[in-house]
Amino acid sequence: MHDQTVPPFMLPPPHGHADPQVWHTGRFRLVLDRVHLMGIVNVTPDSFSDGGRYLDARAAIAQAERLVAQGADLLDLGAESTRLNATPVPAEEEWRRLEPVLMEVLQLGVPVSVDTHKPEVMRVALDSGADLINDVRALTTPGALQALAAHPSAGVCLMHSRGDPTTMQTLAQYDDVVEDVAAFLVERFQAACTAGIAAERIVLDPGYGFAKTMEHSVDLLARQETLRARLAQAGVDRPLLAGLSRKGTVGRLTGRPVEQRLAGSLAAALLAAQRGARVLRVHDVAETVDVLKVWQAVEQASRETVAIGLGANLGDARATLAWAVQQLAAHPAVQLQRVSSLYRTRPVDAEGPDYLNAVALLTTSLEPQALLGLLQGLEQQAGRERPYRNAPRTLDLDLLLFGQRVLNTDHLTLPHPRMHQRRFVLEPLAEVAPHLQVPSKGAAVSLQQEVAADQPVQVVDCIDGLHWWRADLVPVRPGR
Ligand code: ADP
Ligand code: MG
Repeated sequence: MHDQTVPPFMLPPPHGHADPQVWHTGRFRLVLDRVHLMGIVNVTPDSFSDGGRYLDARAAIAQAERLVAQGADLLDLGAESTRLNATPVPAEEEWRRLEPVLMEVLQLGVPVSVDTHKPEVMRVALDSGADLINDVRALTTPGALQALAAHPSAGVCLMHSRGDPTTMQTLAQYDDVVEDVAAFLVERFQAACTAGIAAERIVLDPGYGFAKTMEHSVDLLARQETLRARLAQAGVDRPLLAGLSRKGTVGRLTGRPVEQRLAGSLAAALLAAQRGARVLRVHDVAETVDVLKVWQAVEQASRETVAIGLGANLGDARATLAWAVQQLAAHPAVQLQRVSSLYRTRPVDAEGPDYLNAVALLTTSLEPQALLGLLQGLEQQAGRERPYRNAPRTLDLDLLLFGQRVLNTDHLTLPHPRMHQRRFVLEPLAEVAPHLQVPSKGAAVSLQQEVAADQPVQVVDCIDGLHWWRADLVPVRPGR
């Protein structure tokens, strides 16, 4: 950002609060504002899905390269199968398989995970540069918490399971699988934090297929949003990683052997993404990328258009409005769509300097109340005071429209109750969205034509073209 345009209130937020979308993994700081794919690279001779085809280190490296080229955001290297009744592998043998592959794969420019539950393997892998550990035993093995804590930047995935590959299916008994998995993950999250592992290093995995019947896994996936809510209620607001690729649940549901589970795995991946998983652990990266592209496009299109009215007439109004738009654009739950020109307008029903006004269009996963809270937080950061009604202001952010929603609560009225009478709202709105409907009032452009005729004396000049708010594109022009 341009130095001179940084208002003093743009200080970074206080530290100590874990950003629920950020995952620190060794050399990388991942922002999980979209679904990330973790590509599976097996270096095991007895793995249930690849049947040891990648035991040879060269083949595993080639597979890793292929997955990254297909769009894998992370890689997960596993040298000990976790499938039911798999033969345990001694730590030395596990590392002997991993080392040559890890060393090469660390050059591929994505975070590299090592899938292990053994503290010895964790330690040597992290010492050798692995970015994170994916542990199906959630750091319950003695020494595992300490192995992770000793590497202050390493990431970790804590997965729900019970027992080991020989006992886990006998332990598949739950009163309520969602509640039990949530309680376990909360306990492991807290144990990790107590051991000195920062919250931003941790993601959580419900452990589909681990110590669970097919019915348990289906139930858990169906209620994955409830699981997320339970975790959040317990103060554990961390991203979920989901792995269903080629698993027995998919096999049981489709009646397919492991090499024919692609379609079933893609459906499961999509369902997990729709229910809030932020990382998907998959074998078939290219195919999953396509599924996510289609989903994201429709997701985006089905979101309601939100219109925000911006105004300011105290201080450096232009810089403050630019800052507010930049804040909206940078917010992880907001997708900025369009910003109008900047308009200079006379105060309505009030004294004081001219206003600058604009309208921003966006989509968001926030509900209207939460969005209003966000807007009011920005007003406060910009030093907004309310000495009397219609007083001059450093920043006013009004929620004009939230799709076609009509709402009348103490704190929020939708559409904004006075928007259809205000030329300083309707001019910029008609510019960016002429056909947008204001519920029970009509299209923005018709309303704009009505007030233009009604308020002929009000001076409304468009004073700038698009992108006035982008500090990197527009030089500061004092006095405007
Ligand atoms: P105005 O922008 O109308 O001059 P203020 O910004 O000072 O007034 O106050 C707005 C008040 O109106 C807030 O308390 C807020 O809760 C309420 N309000 C109701 N509906 C909306 C809306 N759609 N957008 C913004 N504020 C709203
Ligand atoms: Mg307001």
